[in-house]
Amino acid sequence: MSDLWRLTAHEAHEKLRAKEFTAVELTESVLARVDAVEPRVHAYITLTPELALEQAREADVRLASGTATPLTGIPVGVKDLIVTKGVRTTAASRILENFVPPYDSHVYEQVRRAGGVMIGKTNMDEFAMGSSTEHSAFGPSRNPWNLDLVPGGSSGGSAAAIAAGECLVSLGSDTGGSIRQPAALCGCVGLDPTYGRVSRYGIIAFGSSLDQVGPIGRDVEDVATMLDCIAGHDPRDSTTAPDPAPDYRHYLGRDVRGMKVGVPREYFVAGMEPGVKQAVETALKTLEELGCEIDTDFSLPSTEHALAVYYIIAPSEASANLARYDGVKYGFSDRTAGSMWENMEHTRAHGFGNEVKRRIMLGTYALSAGYYDAYYLKAQKVRTVINDEFAAAFQKYDVIVTPTAPTVAFPIGSKVDDPYAMYLNDVYTLPASVAGLPAINVPCGFSEGLPVGLQVVGNFFDEGRIIQVAHAYEQAAGFANRLPRL
Ligand code: GLN
Repeated sequence: MSDLWRLTAHEAHEKLRAKEFTAVELTESVLARVDAVEPRVHAYITLTPELALEQAREADVRLASGTATPLTGIPVGVKDLIVTKGVRTTAASRILENFVPPYDSHVYEQVRRAGGVMIGKTNMDEFAMGSSTEHSAFGPSRNPWNLDLVPGGSSGGSAAAIAAGECLVSLGSDTGGSIRQPAALCGCVGLDPTYGRVSRYGIIAFGSSLDQVGPIGRDVEDVATMLDCIAGHDPRDSTTAPDPAPDYRHYLGRDVRGMKVGVPREYFVAGMEPGVKQAVETALKTLEELGCEIDTDFSLPSTEHALAVYYIIAPSEASANLARYDGVKYGFSDRTAGSMWENMEHTRAHGFGNEVKRRIMLGTYALSAGYYDAYYLKAQKVRTVINDEFAAAFQKYDVIVTPTAPTVAFPIGSKVDDPYAMYLNDVYTLPASVAGLPAINVPCGFSEGLPVGLQVVGNFFDEGRIIQVAHAYEQAAGFANRLPRL
């Protein structure tokens, strides 16, 4: 019973149904694992063990009564920008250090409805701004494959928790790569859904035209299961698509013969580590052996502009979204100064970290009179060009396959003082985000003992197909649920 935490969610589900163990026993195993490794990994900001055990007891009742879903009794990690009623939700910021939400986000409601068991709120970069979790006000998470390295970010805690065995499946959020890049660096599967597929109700906003919540797990099946749970229309988020989400598990185990795969040459350029390149090339051979038609004579010429576009649009939206943190409405408040304006200034000066301040300044600048046309409007136009290039590509290809990140996990401290170097770790994930397309990371091997990730990008609302390709690849390649020795 002691290492039940090693199971995938679907394995655990089968065994729960077969009464090999109870949901309480599974949760106890994960909580014991958390006790053993969390001091080294720091995947969580807040742990909720009593709540988890209570939810596990409820799950056991449900399992006994035959009304269990595939997530009933499954230990889940929830990124700390997903609001949870009565459970502190910080977005890894001092400014929300003591914020206890009075309501549940849509996605957490869905997880609870399915009978999922919350282990805690996972660590992240403050307000999801970063690629390493080093921008968390509560200190960085560490990569379970090597504790001197970052787990990626911003959903680094959600990925590290999976790799360390501190939950079986987790929720992250992706604005420009924050699910896929940490999944790549920690050897997990992570899926960023189409913009509008999953409700943002109760998600602490960063870039509202980019943010999406999505699953991270040990294999593609677990990610499909969690996506089934959270996807769909929500009247409280008018940007969710009205059409019902398909059954994503239906795409598992289907063959991929004749699938047309485009591999854009702009994703194989300077800055990419040779070990990453090699693992991705081997993965492309595997896809070819599975019967995919791979076309490498393919260009997405505006790829290089996605980073610039993203770093105008995301900070602009962030500067508007973060204006609500004024020391009056939420969380931390510094009222020692005197006038209202001074209090507001002090609250923000002490409440926000440096990266968040940098984004607010970038965004405020890009939106200010005189610069709006030159920066924000220009970025929106280039965004349309990027969208059009993807749209043309999906006339020819079923999916686009690329590396997820140019490097494997990097040392803690190595990029934190060089924002541009940090931003560059997302070059391969930003284009799909800018276009609002769904994309999945699936582990594709190792470089110097560290996980490498393959990215599969799909057309709008074609999550099923990227799950199909990722699952076929995963089954052939055999890198699923590889856990590091900790
Ligand atoms: N690393 C990117 C940023 O810092 C993307 C983060 C994200 O997807 N939330 O903005």
